[in-house]
Amino acid sequence: MELFFDTRQLNHRPTQYLVHGRIVAPLEKPERFEVMRDALLAAGLLEGKVQDSGSDPIRNVHAPHYVAFLETAVEAFAALPNAGPELLPNVHPYAAGTPGLRQRPAPRTTGILGRAGWYIGDMSCAMMAGTFEAAYWSAQSALSAATAVAEGADCAFALCRPPGHHAYADRASGFCFFNNAALAAERLRRVHDRVAILDFDTHHGDGTQAIFYERADVLFASTHTDPQAYYPHYFGYADETGEGEGRGFNLNIPLAPGSDDDHFVGAVERLAERVLRHAPGALVLSAGWDAHRNDPLSRLDVGTQAFSRIGKLLGGLNLPTVIVQEGGYSLDAVAEAAPAFMTAFRSAR
Ligand SMILES: [Zn+2]
Repeated sequence: MELFFDTRQLNHRPTQYLVHGRIVAPLEKPERFEVMRDALLAAGLLEGKVQDSGSDPIRNVHAPHYVAFLETAVEAFAALPNAGPELLPNVHPYAAGTPGLRQRPAPRTTGILGRAGWYIGDMSCAMMAGTFEAAYWSAQSALSAATAVAEGADCAFALCRPPGHHAYADRASGFCFFNNAALAAERLRRVHDRVAILDFDTHHGDGTQAIFYERADVLFASTHTDPQAYYPHYFGYADETGEGEGRGFNLNIPLAPGSDDDHFVGAVERLAERVLRHAPGALVLSAGWDAHRNDPLSRLDVGTQAFSRIGKLLGGLNLPTVIVQEGGYSLDAVAEAAPAFMTAFRSAR
């Protein structure tokens, strides 16, 4: 089984992140990539070759005007007088229904701060010189893993960093710029009529949900910490079941803070049952390790053993599978949980 990554994904190295009213060092740091790569190679995965599929597959999921913003934002920002070390938005225009709110900023005439406020949804997506390149190669890692599975590999792991499941079609948020799981799902859709995405990161995959919310061909099924007092706050509730043709093809199982291994594994079991009813040709896993009780963002009481249990469960589905790296911020916890999951997953094939 191959592990897809590109060291240009290390070039996103922001220094600022706003949490609980303080600017702190980001949790989503390059060391995560190195620790997970080393742990997964040590667990027996083999380094795959990331191909450059170009930007067309990215612009198939993301609005071209958003991709253009990401590509040019840092250069425009650097031209501001007294520009800081990295671009962060300081305006937030998302007031649904506000009379007179413009549809979106004009690429050439709206200033960079106006565009940043529009396209960057929160204060966890600082952009600097290497950000676009890192996000681009993270996306290509996902596309390469999906291509391997589309062409017959049983499973592949995309070591995506920056992660992707909070990225919308036209908005960055939650450390995410391009939605790597959505890119993988669309790549698989070229060879399968139905695809499923199962997301067990401890945050709801709101970007992925939004991208597929009105579609029946790509099922989105997620378990995560109850968003009532937890990121992403506005999405991830059980009554979000899809709209239009997508009604019934979105399943959220929020977990109460303090939920333990049995609650977490039980929720993944229910998601897996829904996935099997969808009868997909292939599965995408949005794999985050941040439910682990030692993760600095976790509100759950989940241990390494739970990741081993869901690895066995999901490997046992015997669906062609692309595993896409999402969150996980304790270097010690990810170094345990990711290989525990993979060892169990592979032994169940
Ligand atoms: Zn997460």
